[in-house]
Parts: sequence; C-alpha cells; structure tokens
Amino acid sequence: MSRLVIVSNRVPVPDKTGAASAGGLAVALQAALEKRGGIWMGWSGNSSDTEEPGPLALQQQGNITYALTDLTGKDVEEYYYGFANRVLWPICHYRLDLAEYGRKEMAGYFRVNRFFAQRLMPLIEPDDTIWVHDYHLIPLAAELRQMGLKNKIGFFLHIPWPPADVLYAMPVHEEIMRGLASYDLVGFQTDHDLENFAGCLRREEMGDAIGPKLFRANDRTFKGGAYGISIETEAFAKFARKASAHNMVSKARASLENRDLIIGVDRLDYSKGITQRIDAFEKFITSNPVHQGKVTYLQITPKSRSEVPEYEQMQRMVAEQAGRVNGALGAVDWVPIRYINKSVSRPILAGLYRIAKVGLVTPLRDGMNLVAKEYIAAQDPENPGVLVLSRFAGAARELKGALLVNPYDIEGTANAIARGLNMPLEERQQRWQIMMDFLMENDVMRWCDDFLKDLLED
Ligand code: UDP
Repeated sequence: MSRLVIVSNRVPVPDKTGAASAGGLAVALQAALEKRGGIWMGWSGNSSDTEEPGPLALQQQGNITYALTDLTGKDVEEYYYGFANRVLWPICHYRLDLAEYGRKEMAGYFRVNRFFAQRLMPLIEPDDTIWVHDYHLIPLAAELRQMGLKNKIGFFLHIPWPPADVLYAMPVHEEIMRGLASYDLVGFQTDHDLENFAGCLRREEMGDAIGPKLFRANDRTFKGGAYGISIETEAFAKFARKASAHNMVSKARASLENRDLIIGVDRLDYSKGITQRIDAFEKFITSNPVHQGKVTYLQITPKSRSEVPEYEQMQRMVAEQAGRVNGALGAVDWVPIRYINKSVSRPILAGLYRIAKVGLVTPLRDGMNLVAKEYIAAQDPENPGVLVLSRFAGAARELKGALLVNPYDIEGTANAIARGLNMPLEERQQRWQIMMDFLMENDVMRWCDDFLKDLLED
C-alpha cells in the first residue's frame, strides 16, 4: 500500500496525549494516514518577520509525520487574507460583489503555492499518493508537476464551485482552471459543483467531459467526481445521547422553561445567511402570534476571520439585528433570540441539537454544511426534531427528509419554521429516518475511502 501525503492550509496536529482536537474530517484523514503511513503538511499558523521562514518543523506521531512550515507576514497577508479569503472565498460563494482583486495578492497566492511545493518535494517518495485540500492550494499540483513530480495527486474542494459567468469575473481564472486540470482527480462536494466545473472548462474551450467522471483539458486526461463530505455519524449520535447529562445542556434545558428551542450554529460568515434567518424568525413570530413567548431561537456564531473587514462589519450587524428584534418582540419574561458570539464545544453542541425542535440551517451558499448533518445525527429517534435546510447548501442534495427553503425568501423560511414546529411525530420520524439511514451509510470514513479509491484506481 502506497504512503499517503496530505497537504492542507492548516493541520490538526494532535496534542501531547495523542488526542486529536479536531472534528470528523481530521479524524477520517488521520485514520487514512495511520493505516498507510504518511505525511500531513501545511502552514503552522505562525508568521515569521524574516525574509525566509525557518525549516519545516517535523513531528512524528505513530505512523504519521506532521510537517509544518511558517510563512512570512507578507505571505499570510497576500496568500491567506488576500487572495484565498478576499477573492476565492467570495467568488466560490457566488459573491462577485465582495471580491477584491489585487495583483499583489494574486502573485502572493501563486508564490506561496510554489513555496509549499518546494518544501514538500524533498519529502515525497516515488510511490506516494498526494491528496491536496481546498481552495488555498489549487495551484500546488501544477507547481509540483513543473518540478518533475510524476506521482498521483488528488484535490478536494471543500467549498462550492461557481458557474463560468461567476468564475470568469476573476482575472486569473485561466491559471486557476489550469491548476485544477493538473490533478489526477478533482473532487467536489456535489454534482452541481462538478457540472459547474465542466461548464467552466467548456466556456473558453479549455476542455470538456470525455466520459463518466473523466475530463480532458490542457493536453491531459483526468478524473472528476462528487464526494459529499460527512461526519462521524455513529460517534456523534453517541455524543448526543450522553450530552443530555452534561451540566451546560441541563442548564440550557432548564432555562427554556418548556419553550420550544430553535437552533442555528454557524461561523460568522456572510455565506451563512444569518441576517436573512433572523428576519425569517421575526416574520415567523409576527405571523404566528400563538408562538409568541413559547419559543427561543438560539444562534451560536463564533467569530471568524475578524481581520477581513466584511467579517467585522457583519459581527456588528448581526448583534444589532438580534438586539433590535429582541427589543421589538420580547417581553419582561421572554427573550426571543439568544445570540452567542463564542465557540461551543462539539459535545455540548450535540446536546443542544438534541433538545432543539427545529435545526435552522439556511446558508445563502455552502459547500456541504456539516451542522445540518450533525443536527440529524444528534436527534432522539423517539422524538426527532425537524431540519429546515437551505436549498443552496450542498447538504440539500443528500438530506431528502429536510424542509428545503430558499433563504432569500423570508416568508417561505418563516412558514417552514412554523411547519417544523407543528409537524406531527409520525412525519418527523419518517423524515428523520430517511436522513439518518443515509448518514449512517455515508459517513466521513466512507467519503475518504471513496475519494482515495477513485484516485488510486487506474
Ligand atoms: N462548530 C463548533 N463550535 C461552534 C460552531 C461550530 O465546533 O461553536 C463546528 C460544527 O460542529 C461543525 C463545524 O464547526 O462541525 C462547521 O462546519 P460547517 O460545514 O457547518 O461550516 P464551515 O464553518 O466549515 O463553513
């Protein structure tokens, strides 16, 4: 069995006890690495003030070598905050209006990818299989190929892939497409993303699909497929069963005073549709006065990327909006929205999902959305809650028992909340069972196996 080399922007290095601090994705990839032996390489998260960052820091844990590199402050500014987060992230989430192109940032992105390739190259053995993750590292295979590397290289994109009209608004779209065409397998979250990718190849006659899961572009033939990322379904369900006993969850339950709980959990990001969701909740209360005082909407929203100006603005906007709705709708003994701006640990989240009658997952655009899957895995089979899910989340392609909504349609989402809260037990159970069966079969280990199988097969 060939060794596996994983490359991602950040690396979940386990702590000294060997316990991984990260979620399902890290667990699945660590298991794959442990089985085959290999390397996980990425940015340490630190920036050095010197011209050239110090040597790679290597750390061995069992069968896995973690290889971390620092970047310079300029690298982090241009590659990470600049091109990755201010150009690729908005473009891939269909937000042309938020993309800020700058030559310096684009050059920095390609420069850091070359730097990653230079650092990785000496570690690679002839039979190694390389698996690159996410939008930070699209040009990595092209750089490695230029240095003469012949090994199999796969790429998985964790975020959506946009249609040609959106992608082509980005000045370096050709290099980015050529970058993707340099892999042996390009994996997307859904069939829609894969279709968009094929459309991008066709639009400027760069290439086309030449068979099922097979593409030709740039004088190369390569594979492309959809592999919906998932969670550790069984382990998460177990977490949720145990979490009922957790102090924080008991306190949360007591504080509800028999009110129904609606839960939303999202990183603070404009792609998550949080402001539209608060509007929908407000509409739901004003159109359904019987629920007034009888329901609590808990929105857990840890901060992210506060260095990017849009994120800082959003933080203010969401807090103000939640405050305004509470002021307008609340009563002496009822706070309609509880807004938490801090991260909550997964075991506690699992317990909170379980006591929530409605899981409100309404991104404007999302690659997959793991919160939707975690909400389903956490439910009590005897009395499951209802998932209200945006049709623009990748998860909507898979979770067929959810109430699908268009998050831009505030009234439609408000109606779905009402329908979820009033849904009879039998229908809730039927809908939940379809989704839970799907998730038990399609967990994150399966995602990992499916991708590697397609990458390794000739
Ligand atoms: N999460 C968490 N604590 C929080 C909020 C979120 O651990 O306070 C986790 C959540 O359980 C999920 C992940 O962060 O596993 C978010 O993944 P998702 O695909 O929903 O969105 P992303 O943040 O990757 O865009």
